[in-house]
Amino acid sequence: MKKTSNTLTILGTGTFFVNKNRTASSYLLEIKNKKILIDCGPGTLMRLSELGIKPENIDYIFITHFHADHTSDLFPLIMNIRLRDFFFKNGLKKFPHIVGPTGIKKFIISLSLNFQLPLFNSWNKLKITDVKSSQKFDGFTVEAFKVKHIAFNLAANAYAFRFIINGDKVISFSGDTTTCVGIEKACRDADLFVCDTSYPKNNGNSAHIDTTQIGKIASKSNVKEILLTHFYPQYEGTDFAKEVKENYSGKVTKGKDKMKMKI
Ligand SMILES: [Zn+2]
Ligand SMILES: [Zn+2]
Repeated sequence: MKKTSNTLTILGTGTFFVNKNRTASSYLLEIKNKKILIDCGPGTLMRLSELGIKPENIDYIFITHFHADHTSDLFPLIMNIRLRDFFFKNGLKKFPHIVGPTGIKKFIISLSLNFQLPLFNSWNKLKITDVKSSQKFDGFTVEAFKVKHIAFNLAANAYAFRFIINGDKVISFSGDTTTCVGIEKACRDADLFVCDTSYPKNNGNSAHIDTTQIGKIASKSNVKEILLTHFYPQYEGTDFAKEVKENYSGKVTKGKDKMKMKI
């Protein structure tokens, strides 16, 4: 990839089984002077803290779907910002823009009520908006594609994101998905495809793709490089990259927490 000051830091490559090596889904894109978080699963706040990044330093948060392994640190992150603003008497100058599946605002408000911290009653500084099929921001565009992700017979309102940086570099995030048209479109011609790798070959189901399907989708969509993530502990010993390469000839890297890549 071309050398720029833009970076992607993989904060978490695991799922609900958080341990010191793999916290749950979260990625930090740094484009120019903007910090963009993609998903905010358990462990995200700890990983940000290890990198010296405070919640109020984040400019945007994109949520692929509501499952807790992608969102459970979102409310604590918001509370962190809210309390800092309170303790220091409106001391914060900027607040993140949160973008997520339809109903994201309602989702956050219901968390607030369930946690008995009704923080939005007299405080309304966060911008929270539903995802759009294509939305332009300062220095980047985000396209969202509906993906199929049915866990325990319940279909999640799930999206894959395609970030187009400075009009040319494309980084795609699968979120959680099984095979579908949405994921094929989201990763078309991507320079980097950050992909759900829950299952070894020939083990995909209605919730997640497997390594055979990843290879086939990436080949069909002309992906230049794949970064594998979203690992379950029972498959730690499986050579996922090798399995993906059975159907794909580009570069494949197995993700590690705190891995940093120039983009
Ligand atoms: Zn999920
Ligand atoms: Zn997940």
